[in-house]
Amino acid sequence: MVSTVSLTPATDDDLAVMRDQLGRPMRGVIGIAARCVCGNPTVVATEPRLPDGTPFPTFYYLTHPGATAAMSALEAGHVMPELAALLDEDDDIAAAYQAAHRSYLADRAVYGQVDEIDGVSAGGMPTRVKCLHALAGHALAAGPGVNPIGDLALARGTWSPERCTCAQPRESV
Ligand SMILES: [Zn+2]
Repeated sequence: MVSTVSLTPATDDDLAVMRDQLGRPMRGVIGIAARCVCGNPTVVATEPRLPDGTPFPTFYYLTHPGATAAMSALEAGHVMPELAALLDEDDDIAAAYQAAHRSYLADRAVYGQVDEIDGVSAGGMPTRVKCLHALAGHALAAGPGVNPIGDLALARGTWSPERCTCAQPRESV
């Protein structure tokens, strides 16, 4: 399976912004998988094994505070069971979600095989909906049409990568 995503290098500026976004130092950063229109990172790609040896399945990690807040609001509003029901009701969505899972694993495998998380992707894929942050992160990284549940979560949320809401925009937008 061909990787769906091209990463851009994480600059010192990017690392500083993500440290602010997440409130902690960044670990195992490979690159930036998606950005706000202003240029700030929205999704970071992380090594499948952190420098301290910890397996890290969430290859695409949502960093943008506006995006994470929007996904948290959906989770609090019980959108997850609704989206999970689609996997039972719609064979096309279920099949696309399975494909998204395989695509996610293929993207991560480029950066190493880690036995502890072999076959484990993120967000509940391939059959459950457990974390909209992880699914939205994948959808932002891969672009529309790869992760159907992530796409729906982004569409339902109040945040958009096309409209900068960064506390400190990278450039005037
Ligand atoms: Zn921005």
